[in-house]
Amino acid sequence: MTDFTTTSASITPDRTPRRVRHELRFRRLAVQTVQRLTPHLIRITLAGDDLEGFASPGFDDHAKIFFPDAAGQLALPTMGPDGPVWPAGGRPAMRDYTPRRHDARANTLELDFALHDAGPATQWAERARPGDVLGVGGPRGSFIVPTAFDWHLLIGDDTALPAIARRLAELPAGARVVVLAEVDSEADQVPFETQAELTLKWVHRNGAEPGLSPVLLDTLKAMELPAGDFHAWVGCESAIAKALRAHLVGERGANPKWTRASGYWRRGAAATHDTHDE
Ligand SMILES: Cc1cc2nc3c(=O)[nH]c(=O)nc-3n(C[C@H](O)[C@H](O)[C@H](O)COP(=O)(O)OP(=O)(O)OC[C@H]3O[C@@H](n4cnc5c(N)ncnc54)[C@H](O)[C@@H]3O)c2cc1C
Repeated sequence: MTDFTTTSASITPDRTPRRVRHELRFRRLAVQTVQRLTPHLIRITLAGDDLEGFASPGFDDHAKIFFPDAAGQLALPTMGPDGPVWPAGGRPAMRDYTPRRHDARANTLELDFALHDAGPATQWAERARPGDVLGVGGPRGSFIVPTAFDWHLLIGDDTALPAIARRLAELPAGARVVVLAEVDSEADQVPFETQAELTLKWVHRNGAEPGLSPVLLDTLKAMELPAGDFHAWVGCESAIAKALRAHLVGERGANPKWTRASGYWRRGAAATHDTHDE
């Protein structure tokens, strides 16, 4: 006799995130185009033979970006048996950026730079011209978050717009997603493409200093969220990311295992990457 009973375990979709490692490579690329997307966001499209084999399957992947010195010279490491080996003469400035879009056919890689007061990355992006060189290391690994949740929550500031845009692009039709995004003003909002059912809430700093505006947390606290199991993703200033995570897990029933909160930058410190997960 056939047994038609189904246990709940057998129908629960697998929601365990998966890590994927990639061979670490350092690439020397050239700027192909520079586009000012909004007053505070510049898209740089990079190209070059070194892009061969580039892979970035995770929406919140990051690559280490190496900047040329004042004379336009770019120092890049080579891979030795014990890891990266630097040429004599010091290491260049390096910062983390999200591969916004990789087009293997066109052999291009887009990076979106959020502009702020100071820092080598911001300065470089503001002055970038076609032909300028830039180094790209990694991504070394990817974190693959399944899509089979009742709904998804994505929260971030300007620096997280590339990751949020990638997640929205990969979520399938039928998925439900709530996005809470902070920028300075309406002029800084970017369009998103998605097949998912999107509820989008933009909030504005209106000139307040980034990292000090309470607008993300205040808005989240006042937001009605859908019922059901959800995956929450947060990327913004570190102390704010930590507070958002605490609110989601402590007050809104977010499962800590399905909540990924990162400090994409930290107020008063250069080149930071804080993870606030357990
Ligand atoms: C995993 C990951 C992915 C990231 N992806 C992107 C991305 O795709 N696009 C992007 O624009 N950024 C992204 N960031 C953030 C970016 O790496 C930081 O903002 C970086 O510090 C910028 O470098 P900088 O040279 O301009 O400033 P830094 O020299 O690092 O910092 C100088 C000063 O500026 C402050 N500061 C840094 N960033 C900001 C900011 N955004 N707003 C206000 N003040 C700031 C610092 O606190 C410091 O006081 C990502 C970060 C991580 C960890």
